[in-house]
Amino acid sequence: MFKDLFNTYNWDEVKQSILAKTNADVLQALQKDKRTLEDFKALISPAAMSYLEQIAQLSNVLTQKRFGKTIQMYVPLYLSNECQNICTYCAFSLDNKIKRKTLSDDEILQEVKAIKQMGYDHVLLVTGEANQTVGVNYLQHAIQLIRPYFSHISIEVQPLDQPDYETLLAEGLNTVLVYQETYHRNNYKTHHPKGKKSNFDYRLETPDRLGKAQVHKIGLGVLIGLEDWRTDCFFTALHLHYLEKTYWKTKYSISFPRLRPIEVGTQNNSSMKSFTSFMSDKQLVQLICAYRIFNPEVELSISTREDENFRNHVIKLGITSMSAGSKTNPGGYVVEPQSLEQFEISDERSPQQITTLIKQQGYEPVWKDWDRSF
Ligand code: SF4
Repeated sequence: MFKDLFNTYNWDEVKQSILAKTNADVLQALQKDKRTLEDFKALISPAAMSYLEQIAQLSNVLTQKRFGKTIQMYVPLYLSNECQNICTYCAFSLDNKIKRKTLSDDEILQEVKAIKQMGYDHVLLVTGEANQTVGVNYLQHAIQLIRPYFSHISIEVQPLDQPDYETLLAEGLNTVLVYQETYHRNNYKTHHPKGKKSNFDYRLETPDRLGKAQVHKIGLGVLIGLEDWRTDCFFTALHLHYLEKTYWKTKYSISFPRLRPIEVGTQNNSSMKSFTSFMSDKQLVQLICAYRIFNPEVELSISTREDENFRNHVIKLGITSMSAGSKTNPGGYVVEPQSLEQFEISDERSPQQITTLIKQQGYEPVWKDWDRSF
C-alpha cells in the first residue's frame, strides 16, 4: 500500500531537500532521458525558475510527442451540494448555512441535455459526501441514467470501498478523481476537522483501492495553497510513481487546483472568504512543465478555476485536458442557475470560445474519448 511507502518520508526533510536543489541539479534533470523523483524535486525547486524557458520548451516537445496537438474537453456536472464534512476551504462545508440541493432524475436529464448542447461527450459527476442522499446507490443510479449520453464518465465524489467502485465500474464508470488535498498529515486535520474526510489514511489509500478495482483512470492532485506547494506536489509525484508501478494497467491524470474565493454564510447574509494563493502563475507553469518532464505519459488537466489569461498561455505547455463553460452548483446549467457555487469560476468563456482559442493555437479540441473502442 502507498501508505507504507509514504510513512518512510518526513515532510520537513522533503521540503528542505527541494529547497536545496542547485542549478547543476536542474541542468542534470533537463539533460536526462528518464527522470527520477530527485530530478522532479530539482524541476520544482526555486533554482529551476532561472531555466523556465528551457523547461517550458522541453515540456512542449514531450507533450506533442506523446499526445499530439490535442486537448480533451470535459465538463463537470454537480449532482448535489449536500455534505457531512467540514472542509475549511469549501462552500458546501456542513457548517456553511446554505440551501442544500440534490438533483432528481428529471433534473439530471435536464442538465445533461444542456451539456450535450454544448457539445460534450465527457462528463465529470461531482457530489459532496452525504451517504444518506448521495451514497453508492444514488451514484449507481445516476450513472445508469446518463450512460447513454456520454462515452466517458468520471466522478469526483467521496472515497469509496473497493466493492463499491467495482459496482460503479460495472455500470460504465471510467475515471475516478480523488485529490488528497494535502499530504501534510498533521495539518490535514486542521483543514478537515469533522466528518469522514478527516480520516487521512482512508483518503490516502483510496487510489490503491481504485487500482485493485481496475479502474480505467485515476486522477490525483492536491489543493494548492493549503500547504507548501512544492512539498505537496512532490508527494503527488511520489504517489503517481508508486501507482504506475503497482497498477500498470490503469492510466493517470493530475490536476493542480489553486484555492479560489468561496461564499460563506446564509444566502441572505453572505460574504466572500478569500485565501492567499501561495503560488504565482509562473510557479504554476513551472509545476505543470515539471510534471510533464518527469512523466511524459500522465494526463494534465486544467479547470475554469484559472483565469482567461493563464489558460490562454498554458495550452502549449503540457496540458492535455480542459473544461469550459463549467458550473459548480447543482442545477447550474438550467435547473437552478442562481444556486451557490462550490467555488468561483475564473474563466467564464463558453466552450465554443475555448475551442476557437485552442484551434487558433494550432491544436485540436477533442470532444470524444475514443479509449473505449481500443
Ligand atoms: S470539499 Fe467536498 S467533502 Fe469537503 S465540504 Fe466540500 S463537498 Fe464536502
